[in-house]
Amino acid sequence: MVSCKPMKKDFISALQKQLQTPQKIVVIPHKNPDGDALGSTLAWMLFLQKNKHDAVVISPNDYPDFLKWMPAQDQILIFSQNESSVENKIQEADLIFTLDFNSLSRIDQLGSLVADSKAIKVMIDHHQEPDSYAQLMYSDTEMSSTCEMIYKLIHTLDASSITPEIASCLYTGIMTDTGSFRFPSTTAATHKAIAHLIECGADGTAIHQNIYDSSSFNRLKLLGIALSNLNQIPGLPIVYIQLTQKELNSCDYKKGDTEGFVNYGLSLDGVVFSCIMIENENEGKIKMSFRSKGDFSVNDFARTYFEGGGHHNAAGGMSTTSMEETVQRFKKAVEEVKNQFH
Ligand code: 5GP
Ligand code: MN
Repeated sequence: MVSCKPMKKDFISALQKQLQTPQKIVVIPHKNPDGDALGSTLAWMLFLQKNKHDAVVISPNDYPDFLKWMPAQDQILIFSQNESSVENKIQEADLIFTLDFNSLSRIDQLGSLVADSKAIKVMIDHHQEPDSYAQLMYSDTEMSSTCEMIYKLIHTLDASSITPEIASCLYTGIMTDTGSFRFPSTTAATHKAIAHLIECGADGTAIHQNIYDSSSFNRLKLLGIALSNLNQIPGLPIVYIQLTQKELNSCDYKKGDTEGFVNYGLSLDGVVFSCIMIENENEGKIKMSFRSKGDFSVNDFARTYFEGGGHHNAAGGMSTTSMEETVQRFKKAVEEVKNQFH
């Protein structure tokens, strides 16, 4: 028997009420959107457009080249490149959907525009500890991905409306957030959703190739540098990688090039916690990614030590100190939690 939490009926009926007549709608993914953030926002935008709404996706900033094949991505408005038209859209919106994040801090300066807007805000998300900025909320931390939540939602509202484009968007986010259907969040319901999305026209092989077999030569060289920088914390099942701006520059770094590097640490026998620290000179900070296997909560770790958060086994954070100091702070933090590893 597969148990699967039903979507709350009051959420569905409140949403249906809001969507009865054509509305002006903005759909927002988190900053540095990944496959799940873009897949869910684009699929939801396409569904809304099909239902006669005036819907647009507004991304806080640009996204990696390996997502630039996605259906309808040419309609995305990027805030950092179109500030005044984005401001207008948000001011005029009747409804704002925020997808794949649960705190307005995850969309930088867009956050205050959203907070000040008169629009009804709807959050659809699977991260832990949601903030309470939205009037309507569909939050389920057990879901594999926001795309699986949007699949459930569209399936409930009108299962016959899943076009090949919507199916491809949703397949993409489920695939990327589940590590190609292998993380523990992957359930029988996830596979059933995927099976249906294939029936609706998603081409799994093509999507996989677009995302994972589209690396540049430089990106693979950068992976080589990252792997040669791999360090282990003595006596603990923990590894970390540092990448400096200089190293990124030496491989002509482009947005998205380091996606997935942190997972290599977890491929080591016995390792259950992996971290990557990536310098961003422009923003004056170090972006940190954390991944774990089993009981250790990187969500808690990121929140406690590095101003971040995310999921139990995948989270992010940041540091504004130098790389050397960040590594020292990471080691100190690990020392404080080390009894969780025995
Ligand atoms: P990544 O390491 O791939 O950037 O992020 C891993 C997971 O943690 C993603 O689900 C992402 O949305 C979330 N995440 C990344 N950075 C942050 C952060 O600074 N704050 C919070 N709350 N979540 C984050
Ligand atoms: Mn997600």
